[in-house]
Amino acid sequence: MIIVCSKADVKQYRDEIVCTTGREPTVYRTTIGYMQYPNLPFFNPSWDIVMAFLNGKISKQQYLMGYRDHDKGYYVPGYFAILQKNAAKCLQFVRGLRADQDYILVCFCKEGAFCHRQVIAEKIRKHRLDLEVVTH
Ligand SMILES: [Zn+2]
Repeated sequence: MIIVCSKADVKQYRDEIVCTTGREPTVYRTTIGYMQYPNLPFFNPSWDIVMAFLNGKISKQQYLMGYRDHDKGYYVPGYFAILQKNAAKCLQFVRGLRADQDYILVCFCKEGAFCHRQVIAEKIRKHRLDLEVVTH
């Protein structure tokens, strides 16, 4: 099973936690203490789209598709373009997921909030019909 959740929920899980944001291994508090987990940088959204979305400057559609930032004076690629750029690594990861193992994919966004977690979950469902993907 693939569980895609907020970092805030991670305490209930023990194994195979990987972070979908950030470039360094991230330390989390779990039921068995503080643990360090690897990151998946190829799933990272850009800082531009994350901050613009969290600040209410762009829509979900712009987060995904990209937008022209008039304050900064340049075009900001959306999350789909980032996944496209990293497609080989993303697919390699998704194809490598084992059906007999649980994985916990986390990011820092709040539970229930829109973010790239939902996109990743959707992509895994699309490419791996044999896996159960749970999001929360
Ligand atoms: Zn997120």
